[in-house]
Amino acid sequence: MKTIKCEVCNEEVLLDGSFTCTCHNCGANYNTFGQRLANTSQWGYETGELITDIYNDQEDW
Ligand SMILES: [Zn+2]
Repeated sequence: MKTIKCEVCNEEVLLDGSFTCTCHNCGANYNTFGQRLANTSQWGYETGELITDIYNDQEDW
């Protein structure tokens, strides 16, 4: 286990080995490697956009 500094509020965030670690102070999410994650809602939105773009490209072919 190790701790990182939260990019948002500089609070210490404990990486306990679980897939997502949340800053207890501001709620920012980090993965096991201490990389900051976007909100889950934003993830789904961005992924959906990307998939649509890919399908559009394939239709052009
Ligand atoms: Zn924080």
